[in-house]
Amino acid sequence: MDQNRRDFLKKAVIMTSAGILAGGASDAFASNDKKSVSISRGGVNKKMTLRYKPFDAKFIHPFGVSGNMRTGTPLILVEIEYDGVIGYGEAAMPPYLGETQASVIEFLKKVNLDQFSSPFELDDILTYVDSITAYNFAAKASIDIALHDLVGKLLGARWCDIWGYTASKAPTTSYTIGIDTPEVVRQKTIEAAPYSIIKVKLGSEDDKKLVEAIRSVEPTKPLCVDANQGWKDKSYALDMIHWCKENGFIFVEQPIGKYNLDDMAWITERSPLPTVADESIQRLSDVKKMQGVFTGINIKLMKCTGLREGHKMLELARALGMKVMLGCMSGETSVAISAAAQLSPAVDWADLDGNLLINNDPFEGMKIVDGKITLADLPGVGAVKRK
Ligand code: MG
Repeated sequence: MDQNRRDFLKKAVIMTSAGILAGGASDAFASNDKKSVSISRGGVNKKMTLRYKPFDAKFIHPFGVSGNMRTGTPLILVEIEYDGVIGYGEAAMPPYLGETQASVIEFLKKVNLDQFSSPFELDDILTYVDSITAYNFAAKASIDIALHDLVGKLLGARWCDIWGYTASKAPTTSYTIGIDTPEVVRQKTIEAAPYSIIKVKLGSEDDKKLVEAIRSVEPTKPLCVDANQGWKDKSYALDMIHWCKENGFIFVEQPIGKYNLDDMAWITERSPLPTVADESIQRLSDVKKMQGVFTGINIKLMKCTGLREGHKMLELARALGMKVMLGCMSGETSVAISAAAQLSPAVDWADLDGNLLINNDPFEGMKIVDGKITLADLPGVGAVKRK
């Protein structure tokens, strides 16, 4: 955090605790002077306004994972406006998660933000949003991300700074190559040159051919594997993990079926590589159950309802001595990816390439520089709408 931001945050906390509340956050932002931002905490005629619209993210290449092939991802883009400042968020719905644009819109219609006096009641607001239904995780994440963006903008700070993470510690991100023909895999491996880790989607009969195609282009680059539950039993999975270890892989994600935790614990106990839970884990309440079953967990905002819970999962996993990976859904825009990137300085591995896979990103924010996640110096979740 630079000194200006440190000074600002200190000042913001003092102003808040002393009850010195001035209006005009939007004016202050127009001046782009973070030190002069004043915090507006409600008052007459200040309401949060929620807006949303469907958007279809289009992939640069059709994208295959164990079981299907897709050309894009349906999204809902969300805005929450308060006192002239807009927070942006999104819900991303790859088909296997069971949410749709229609189900997200139906959920968002139920959300009534008028009962809250300001976005600074973030914890109460998100507890309420979570209580509306049992599921709708991506829909909940869209509100969570927009609200974090809004509150960060009103404070003039990025969330990584609010949480006290050192942005420069953000890790490299892996670049994902889906299941495809050896020729396409070779081409994608060439395109992945700027990234220092390649994530390979395995779980088909052609696993070894696919890895050989990558190795013909990149003989030594570190690889990680996401089997997406595709390895059919524990012995086969363990054999494949040993083979992966010999071929320069550094960890393995979700080797077998998500409910098969006994066999998974058996694999982890014997595995020469760290194992990471993805489909087996959804939310904060699942983290403890993964201890001893996997080496680490993969946190994704669309699964866990957003940044508030993702941050808690990260801290709990750390306290339990587990590794943490940060993931995303293929086809998320730079809003959700930049939001997730705010957590990245505190994780072991990141797979935040969802926005790199699409050719119609309406936002820009987090960038990959020399393979490394580089957060934008922007308040909130660190993304802006493209002109
Ligand atoms: Mg995965």
